[in-house]
Amino acid sequence: MLQRINAHFINGSWRTVVAPEWFTLVNPATEEAVSCVARADAAMVNEAIAAAYHAQDGWGRLSFTERASYLQQIADYLTAHADELTQAISDELGCPLWFSKLVQVEDPIDALRNHVGYAAKLQREQPWDARLKVRKEPVGVCGLITPWNYPLHQLIAKVAPALLAGCPVIVKPAEQTPRSAIVLAMAAEAAGLPAGVFNLVLGCGEQIGTILCQHPDVDCISFTGSTRVGRLIQRNCAGTVKKVCLELGGKSAFIIGQTKRLAEAVQLGVEDVMLNSGQTCVALTRMLVPAERYEEACELAVGVAQQLKVGDPKAEDSFLGPVVNQQQYQAVQQYIELGLDEGARLIAGGTERPAGCSQGYYIAPTIFADVHNGMRIAREEIFGPVLCIIPYSDEDEALRLANDSPYGLSGRVWADDDAERERLALGIRAGLIFTNAAEWHNAAPFGGFKQSGYGRELGLAGVEEFLTLKSIVTEEPQHG
Ligand code: NAD
Repeated sequence: MLQRINAHFINGSWRTVVAPEWFTLVNPATEEAVSCVARADAAMVNEAIAAAYHAQDGWGRLSFTERASYLQQIADYLTAHADELTQAISDELGCPLWFSKLVQVEDPIDALRNHVGYAAKLQREQPWDARLKVRKEPVGVCGLITPWNYPLHQLIAKVAPALLAGCPVIVKPAEQTPRSAIVLAMAAEAAGLPAGVFNLVLGCGEQIGTILCQHPDVDCISFTGSTRVGRLIQRNCAGTVKKVCLELGGKSAFIIGQTKRLAEAVQLGVEDVMLNSGQTCVALTRMLVPAERYEEACELAVGVAQQLKVGDPKAEDSFLGPVVNQQQYQAVQQYIELGLDEGARLIAGGTERPAGCSQGYYIAPTIFADVHNGMRIAREEIFGPVLCIIPYSDEDEALRLANDSPYGLSGRVWADDDAERERLALGIRAGLIFTNAAEWHNAAPFGGFKQSGYGRELGLAGVEEFLTLKSIVTEEPQHG
């Protein structure tokens, strides 16, 4: 018996759609249909927009600190429900439970708690001189549209700064991963957010997304997803001249420079791509290696790939679970076949099912050598566990290759020498660069260059995206 989810949170209460269209959710590890989700209809989306519109003045008048206290309560609720979130995200997405707990749940709750602290760093009004003061005002009603690959993280990266800035929100999560959004709405309800400040509508992106983009009472759309849909959103928002923030795809480069720690660098690079079964927008899917160490790096990479266990998300030693669904499975398989057709050398993985995985959308960690940067597998986002290794002759060529991409989301550089590392880090045109073994930082403003989008999330810059400036100029003070 399929579990039926018919739950939309509008104007402070839970609503069901009468006679809905249903979307079926399939567990990617078993290929079994597990639940179906009712899609919100147009009337419900319009109601959510109206509720947010009416909530904006009251919410916008509160101080940053008052709004932060709601975020604190939301964070506490999510912490109390972390196990449920961990299980739900693993079931929907297929990622291993350990990864779901650490990265999919604990990280975003940390990011949310950071936002509570940002309240003390934000000032509503700044006097400039006797005649001018500049105020920060909420941008207005925000439509927040998110993908499935880091479902809670992507929600928090938008909801937390928007609410802190004073914007009421209408959240539209990916259809494949609705449960974390439902728990977030329950957290908003438990925190006692004023009615209309947080609204959740589940359903079809094309339908709900288009209404949000074209509606005159929505002031801003913040979108994370594919570059293809990002372009559509820009077009659909043009008619009402909305503010648009786009966090889109990537094809990020990892430049390995001169180093005595090649094995460590390669291990980190391979694992980075394979985490979450390659469904990570910032994945370092092009590894650039000095030509003189190319074969050594390829051999090391194969060794790492062979050690990574693909299997049941519930097993503690699984590094990769399945990809999210059959459509994604087929798309990645086609890219692996394309790589072979383009003449790249397959050195690990491939289209065969990994050992022991007779059911489920599992793909083995796959590595192509002898890739040149003009191949489609080096230019297009595959969004699966597929790594391309590309040789370079000198530093200039490494940077030229790294930057020869329509995308500019992220990158990593690895070199023993500080000056070389700095040159490489500054030379890559992307919004987020890691050096050597640096780890994710929840306060680092996050966003893209080029076709990876514009606008920033996280950190204070993420809050500023949801604020706009109002200058108030007064007459010259009268003397005498
Ligand atoms: P997608 O673009 O298909 O969908 C993303 C969201 O947009 C979903 O909620 C979907 O329902 C909605 N949507 C679909 N059509 C729409 C339309 N016409 N108007 C408005 N909304 C619409 O992306 P996906 O397959 O869910 O996610 C994978 C993509 O997301 C990858 O390209 C990945 O790189 C990108 N991504 C980017 C970042 C980032 O921060 N830059 C983070 C994660 C994922």
